[in-house]
Amino acid sequence: MIIVMRRGAQEQDIQHMIQQVESLGMKPTLLRGTERTVIAAIGDERKVPVGMLESGPGVDEVLPVLAPYKIASLETKSEPTVVRAGSLNVGGGNLGVIAGPCSVESEEQIIESARAVKKAGATALRGGAFKPRTSPYSFQGHKEAGLKMLAAARQETGLAVVTEVVAGEDVELVAKYADVLQIGARNMQNYRLLEACGRTDRPILLKRGPSATIEELLLAAEYILDAGNQQVMLCERGIRTFEAHTRFTLPLATVPYLHSKTHLPVVVDPSHGTGHTPLVAAMARAGIAAGADGLIVEVHPNPEKALSDGYQSMTFPQFEEMMAGCRKVAAAMEMKMS
Ligand code: PEP
Ligand code: MN
Repeated sequence: MIIVMRRGAQEQDIQHMIQQVESLGMKPTLLRGTERTVIAAIGDERKVPVGMLESGPGVDEVLPVLAPYKIASLETKSEPTVVRAGSLNVGGGNLGVIAGPCSVESEEQIIESARAVKKAGATALRGGAFKPRTSPYSFQGHKEAGLKMLAAARQETGLAVVTEVVAGEDVELVAKYADVLQIGARNMQNYRLLEACGRTDRPILLKRGPSATIEELLLAAEYILDAGNQQVMLCERGIRTFEAHTRFTLPLATVPYLHSKTHLPVVVDPSHGTGHTPLVAAMARAGIAAGADGLIVEVHPNPEKALSDGYQSMTFPQFEEMMAGCRKVAAAMEMKMS
């Protein structure tokens, strides 16, 4: 990192900061300019408390050189991570498609959905058994009963099951039934939950918080990786902006940007990202064109009757049509879709 001293900093302040750098295990190099003095500190700066250096005497600013995340970084691992969970392959040229209802509502509903999305070419089934809802009065999910319904749908179709875990104390239970644990947007910065998921052997789908920066998303992933779980997918699901025509704003530049910083695969959620069924297919195609390694899409046998997110859910025929369009874009991007 670079420590920039204030104009006219005292020699004793400069010497003090050199000692500080050494005491933190880094090697200082002093660069005296005509106006300012700069100390370049060489060493692993990620565990160094930047604030401590910043509050040193005569210090103007401290500029980190390395990204604050390490295991997630392309500098640590240059080949793309491929996440595998049963029927689902995401990353390294494989485009995974996770589809199904927002919530698991009944065994019939989830099995019917699983059959339909599989027929259309999806490679995993989604469905929430634990639902993080904005209102406490909204449907909260069937919990363990819902997990059992998902397991029945997997049994029936062979599709891997992706489902959300909302609390640390539920991780073990959800991991017993799920092939992939989803950490939802609202929980992206629930660090104890991230650590608990990092201690399981289940792949993780980590959704970006609607107000989180990309760096915060990568640092959230770092918690999971640092706890021992290397099978992490990052999901862009839209962020909150001033725009009111869509539920969230789906920033697809996140996809190539993440690919330039991390080896972890990137999944796009055009359902939550737009909040309107008629916009979903175009954004799914755009996500693939932007380089996404996967999609997660809400599909319901009868969106009008859905207990959650019906307004952004596709019918089975709409999903089939979406998949036909996606296959063309995937072929152009040389991505395998099964
Ligand atoms: C969901 O996938 O249904 C969900 C709640 O997503 P998010 O966490 O992105 O809001
Ligand atoms: Mn939903």
